[in-house]
Amino acid sequence: MPEPAQVMVITPHPDDAEIGGGGTVAHWTGEGKDVIYVVCTNGDKGTSDINMKSEELARIREQEQLTAAKLLGVREVIFLRHPDQTLEDTPEFRKEIVRLIRMYRPETVVTTDPYRRYIWHRDHRIVSRVTLDAIFPYARDVLAYPDLLEQGLQPHKVKEILLWGSEDPNYRSNITDTFDIKIAALRCHKSQISDNSSSGLEERLRERHKMMAEGEDYELAEAFHRVEILR
Ligand SMILES: [Zn+2]
Repeated sequence: MPEPAQVMVITPHPDDAEIGGGGTVAHWTGEGKDVIYVVCTNGDKGTSDINMKSEELARIREQEQLTAAKLLGVREVIFLRHPDQTLEDTPEFRKEIVRLIRMYRPETVVTTDPYRRYIWHRDHRIVSRVTLDAIFPYARDVLAYPDLLEQGLQPHKVKEILLWGSEDPNYRSNITDTFDIKIAALRCHKSQISDNSSSGLEERLRERHKMMAEGEDYELAEAFHRVEILR
């Protein structure tokens, strides 16, 4: 059984975790918290390069994700390697997430918000819905998976969920000191950054994170919808 981790970030594609919560992750690892990533898809459709092959892109994106995670001090990256744009809310996928939650026993799970209206990547919607179900009640309930119990995977209660990309943020994390490392981690995802988007990347994100910090006594924030699980 692996060492438990305080924080598990469950992310649809390589690069989403850095966009949604890279500054917060850097803050946590700087405090000595153990953070692990679960990357659900291999991101093999994420290109506008007509000459790029899916297998090659998946290989590149995995390396980019490892480099970015290392920079942020993430302890371990688990790749589930589902093909991009194919995730469904199935019992199999749910069990895969339950198994990992029971193995690593995180206090906090971070993922994307499933309840964004209108345009939202289907993989994002599915990953977060399945993650919320996996946390409660499936990872918690002793009789949910007798076979996992037999394998020594005891039930586990997650205490806190943070959802990025939310239309209804109720929690902000101060990333003023970790903004630069967030940008550096994002730049590791070279296959996802065109020359055009690269030039204004830092300025655009600084503006976005300033807006998220509006009303606070610090400059830059990442915003989440936070759910505390009391039972
Ligand atoms: Zn994504």
